[in-house]
Amino acid sequence: MEIDVLTLFPAMFAALDESIVKRARERGLLTLRVWDIREFAYDRHRTVDDTPYGGGAGMVMKPEPIHRALQHVKAVSARPARRVILMSPQGRRFDQALARELAAQERLIFICGRYEGVDERVRLHLVSDEISIGDYVLTGGELPAMVVIDAVARLIPGVLGSAESPREESFSDGLLEYPHYTRPREYLGTAVPEVLLSGDHEAVRRWRRKESLRRTRERRPDLLEAVRLTPEDLRLLQEIEAEEGAPPGGL
Ligand code: SAM
Repeated sequence: MEIDVLTLFPAMFAALDESIVKRARERGLLTLRVWDIREFAYDRHRTVDDTPYGGGAGMVMKPEPIHRALQHVKAVSARPARRVILMSPQGRRFDQALARELAAQERLIFICGRYEGVDERVRLHLVSDEISIGDYVLTGGELPAMVVIDAVARLIPGVLGSAESPREESFSDGLLEYPHYTRPREYLGTAVPEVLLSGDHEAVRRWRRKESLRRTRERRPDLLEAVRLTPEDLRLLQEIEAEEGAPPGGL
C-alpha cells in the first residue's frame, strides 16, 4: 500500500515511527510519504491560509496550495489514488469497518486541515472522502490522520505476525474482545481463571467467546444488536443472563 499525507506539520508524522507503521515500512508492505503543503504555495511568503470571506475569527486554508500538492503527489506513483481523504470533524465516523475498507485500497491520500479548516472548494472538488475520528474538535488533522493510518496499517496482510493477528481483536467480528491475563497466576487478590490454565483448547475458546459476549453485552449492547449471533452465541448469552440477570433495558 502507498500512503501520501498532505500537511502543514510534516514533523508530527515522526510519531508513526514508534508504531506498527514503521514495521510495515521496513517489511516493504507500506510506503508512507509526507508532504509539506507549504512547499506548494507559490507566492513569496508561501502563504497557505487567508481570512474568511464574510468575516469572523480564524484563518482558512487556501485551496490552491492543496490543489497543487495533490496534482504533484498523484503523479509520483503510477498507482491510482481512488480515495483522497480529508480529515474533518464533519466526516464519516471512523471505525473498524472503515479501516478494513481502506486497508483494501492500494493507495490512500490524506489531507490534514488546520485553523478553521480548508476552503470549501477542496471538499467539493478534490476529495472523495471526509473522515472524522470522533465528535470532538482537534487543532489539526494530523493526529486524526495518524489514528487512521495506524488502524489501517495493522490490517495490511503480513504487517502483524500471525501471533498478533487482528482476527480476534475488538470489533473484528463485531464484538469487544475477551479479557487477557499473563503471569503471575494471582495478583491483587485475583487469580487467573482456571480454564485458561487447563490446556483444553476447546474450553478456552468457549470461555473467550462467552467473555467477549459478556463484555459486549455490558459495555456496548448496540454492537450486540448489529452482530449475527450463532446458535452457540445465543446459548452463551442465555448462560450469561442466568448468571447476571437481564441487562438494564434488556437486549
Ligand atoms: N472549524 C471546523 C469545524 O467546526 O468543523 C474545525 C476545524 S479544526 C480546528 C482544524 C482541522 O482539524 C480540521 O480541518 C480537520 O482537518 C482536523 N480535525 C479536527 N477535529 C477532527 C476530528 N474529530 N476528526 C478528524 N479531523 C479533525
